[in-house]
Amino acid sequence: MQTRKSLISIVTPFFNEAECIPIFSKSILEVIEHLPQFDFEIICIDDGSQDTSLKILQDVARRHHCFRIIELSRNFGKEAALTAGIDFAGGDAVIPMDADLQDPPSLIAPMIKVWQEGAEVVLAKRVAREKDSVFKRYTAQYFYRFNNRIASIPIPENVGDFRLIDRVVVDALKQLPERQRFMKGLFAWVGFKTQVIEYQREERVKGGTKFSIWKLWNFAIDGITSFSTLPLRVWSYLGASIALLSLFYALFIITRTLILGIDVPGYASLLVVVLFLGSLQLMSIGLLGEYVGRLYLEAKQRPVYLVRKVHQFTKDSE
Ligand code: UDP
Ligand code: MG
Repeated sequence: MQTRKSLISIVTPFFNEAECIPIFSKSILEVIEHLPQFDFEIICIDDGSQDTSLKILQDVARRHHCFRIIELSRNFGKEAALTAGIDFAGGDAVIPMDADLQDPPSLIAPMIKVWQEGAEVVLAKRVAREKDSVFKRYTAQYFYRFNNRIASIPIPENVGDFRLIDRVVVDALKQLPERQRFMKGLFAWVGFKTQVIEYQREERVKGGTKFSIWKLWNFAIDGITSFSTLPLRVWSYLGASIALLSLFYALFIITRTLILGIDVPGYASLLVVVLFLGSLQLMSIGLLGEYVGRLYLEAKQRPVYLVRKVHQFTKDSE
């Protein structure tokens, strides 16, 4: 009896990656060739690229029918693009990976092997990040540390979006309706039986990173505010501690005034206290704003992404 081959979906977001596409498709096709016991589909999400990415992708898809292109109506960002890809993926296992080959395709075969042995999630962990900039490495490290200290669900350190997820996990992810999708956090949140394999992070094959410092900073804030309410709560504690300290200080001043009489100088300490409390209040209001802003975005219920067209070439379409 012929059983159906398992289908593996590779999901890759493309944002101005024209230079990377030829190398990407070549390496992927090589990997696929060596795994004839599986069917593959390569879901390419064109995240509103302004260069020739879409055209080049179409050329590839015309030649290799396992490529499918989901063309988004504009640039929605990597998280939304990944969400789109995962929504469209029909595989028994889904592997999100970057277009710049920083996630080595050679890892696909070992990942599939671990998956077949029973893991529902196979994480690819970067053991060496020497190829990332020093700045990126340190900021990433501090982000993980801080986030994992305050969030209830820790995000595994040095693990990107590159992983294999089983169909059950994909279906679980689809049940998370939130609009602001911090994928690393969502992946961690759903849980499931997880195995880790390690790899060396390579350099981007072509082009530059699509994430500026400002984008990364906002990404980190999104990540933290998506999965922890501690930043909100901390102000109550801080407020309570300051109130308690102020009480002692008040008692001290009253006693001193009773004993030593009225003491007029005190302008400096007064100003310090006013400024300190004022800035604390501004900070806490700003933080409240972060969460209210998120509520606002969620309440609007806008879709995470919009698709202009799905490009699929078959033998008949030529
Ligand atoms: N990407 C995207 N939309 C964006 C920014 C990036 O789809 O708005 C894609 C990009 O094409 C690549 C992946 O996300 O496939 C990772 O981007 P990049 O390599 O620039 O990130 P880094 O590796 O520097 O963190
Ligand atoms: Mg990269």
